[in-house]
Amino acid sequence: MTAIHTATVIGGGPAGLIAAEHLARAGVAVTVYDHKSSVGRKFLLAGRGGMNITHSEPMAAFVERYGVAAQQLAGALNAFGPDDVQAWCADLGEPTFVGTSGRVFPKSFKATPLLRAWLRRLDQLGVKFVMRSRWSGWAPDGSNRFVGADGAEFCVAGDVTVFALGGASWPRVGSDGGWVAGFEAAEIAVSRLRPANAGVRVAWTPEFVERHHGAPLKNVAVSVLSDDAGLVARGDPIVTRSGLEGGPIYALSVPIRDALDRYGVCELAIDLHPDRSVENVAERLARRRPKDSASNWLRRSIGLHPVMIGVLRESTANHLPAAPEEMASLVKQAIFRVVAPMPIERAISTAGGVMFSELDESLMVLRRPGTFIAGEMLDWEAPTGGYLLQACFSTGAAAARGALAWL
Ligand SMILES: Cc1cc2nc3c(=O)[nH]c(=O)nc-3n(C[C@H](O)[C@H](O)[C@H](O)COP(=O)(O)OP(=O)(O)OC[C@H]3O[C@@H](n4cnc5c(N)ncnc54)[C@H](O)[C@@H]3O)c2cc1C
Repeated sequence: MTAIHTATVIGGGPAGLIAAEHLARAGVAVTVYDHKSSVGRKFLLAGRGGMNITHSEPMAAFVERYGVAAQQLAGALNAFGPDDVQAWCADLGEPTFVGTSGRVFPKSFKATPLLRAWLRRLDQLGVKFVMRSRWSGWAPDGSNRFVGADGAEFCVAGDVTVFALGGASWPRVGSDGGWVAGFEAAEIAVSRLRPANAGVRVAWTPEFVERHHGAPLKNVAVSVLSDDAGLVARGDPIVTRSGLEGGPIYALSVPIRDALDRYGVCELAIDLHPDRSVENVAERLARRRPKDSASNWLRRSIGLHPVMIGVLRESTANHLPAAPEEMASLVKQAIFRVVAPMPIERAISTAGGVMFSELDESLMVLRRPGTFIAGEMLDWEAPTGGYLLQACFSTGAAAARGALAWL
């Protein structure tokens, strides 16, 4: 059967590939363009650390994870949601399971077999791939302009176009945010791309870094001092040479950014004993043996690990209090100034992107009928835990539905 319609999908990440699959299933002739030599590079990177493909929490709570963009994404998330993603994985021969945290993982914990099976399926559906071709803007006749591997420019006009060029984190895997200039030149509003789910820079002393870089602060609670909403993130942040990384820090990305924007400074408070009250900690600290050094005192009485004791020293410029009550207050609230968030190149994801005000409900660009946007290049952000990929799958499927309806 010859397809009667053609679709140009630009960007071969999860959002672009799922759009390609849905369009091809409906009988559209799809060509995917990407400027790297292979597709799905960030998807594979996500698979390296035990990929969360989606999350199992109830849908109402799930949608709220997208904050101010929840309303705009709700339709897409409901139409192709976590259950659909799990069924889709199983259908590709990669069943999933729900971890204790509610996160959903492929049983293999990897992205490689899933991507391989997916690309085989796309091939069977007749999807064509044109690699090493960089989208560089719209030509005056409205077609898409690319720069090919040989540096020569060429233009492509399809019946519909789906853009899924990603954000700007980890640019070496392809998503470098270079598309923003082309969109702005076409007067399509893009909210500034900024790091989301990013670590923070902290001015550790060289001695602390030398001894403790790479060590986790086990089971602590972290908050931002100026955060009115009082968000507290529990978990095991990791001390790095330049600051702190890991789940609890990523979870505070929004209040950290807000504090830096509003006040120019951000102070993090770390509770090293979140399950004990300050009184209980003080009571235990009061049992100090006369000959105990400060480190032995903290280790024996309240079980602090060396990296935690280091954190207390860093927070007080090595002037540890001797009184149990004062020390207990410090243990419950060690304060650090964030110098800056990690640059976007090292963030897990990107906040900002094509603004929803530029799109209709089917994710079609109002100024460019027949052009749809999906994935991380849209203006939403979400925590880690499967919410990022889920929104990419949901909006990719929604863009394909929109494109089919438009055709
Ligand atoms: C280290 C790491 C771990 C992660 N782990 C998880 C996880 O466990 N769970 C989760 O939900 N999410 C995770 N994510 C996030 C997730 O991988 C991304 O949200 C997702 O890949 C975004 O999909 P996308 O299709 O929108 O864009 P991308 O995957 O970024 O794909 C965009 C594509 O567009 C191409 N492109 C860009 N510009 C151009 C251009 N001008 N011309 C042509 N092609 C272009 C790129 O080469 C790329 O192939 C992780 C991210 C990172 C960095």
